Amino acid sequence: MAITDKIYVKNHRQLSSQLETNIPKGAFKGATLDVLFQGEGLEKLDDATRDRVLDFSQDFLDCDCDNNPYCGCPERKFIQYLLELRAQGLGPDAIVDVMTDDYMVYAYPGDILSFLDDAVRTLEAAEGLARVDGAAEKRDEIRQSKQELAR
Ligand SMILES: [Zn+2]
Repeated sequence: MAITDKIYVKNHRQLSSQLETNIPKGAFKGATLDVLFQGEGLEKLDDATRDRVLDFSQDFLDCDCDNNPYCGCPERKFIQYLLELRAQGLGPDAIVDVMTDDYMVYAYPGDILSFLDDAVRTLEAAEGLARVDGAAEKRDEIRQSKQELAR
């Protein structure tokens, strides 16, 4: 399961009742993305909640793909966001705190930790391949990303 399948809407029951519709708990579930993307009923939300929901859709659902929000961009952008937080030196608990502050979503720190471990392993594999290819510049770039993640 991708990490984006383990990102949940904070206070999702309260949000559902404000929206007067049942949204799934998973932030990247189709039905949740539909509500966010169409923006239907968002005026019923309190200000603080609405701001975060709008930030989420602006930051992750803003691509021009025909099949938006099912194009994979939202998930890709969110993963990028997680990696950037990591590169800033945040650990799993802090990353969860920040995503809740930013977008009213949360995850279990253990899931974030395994995601980061996997990311480092993926980069290690890529680094190995670049070495085989003799692509020194690429290898350094990958090594750099890996160090940012692992610190
Ligand atoms: Zn897209």
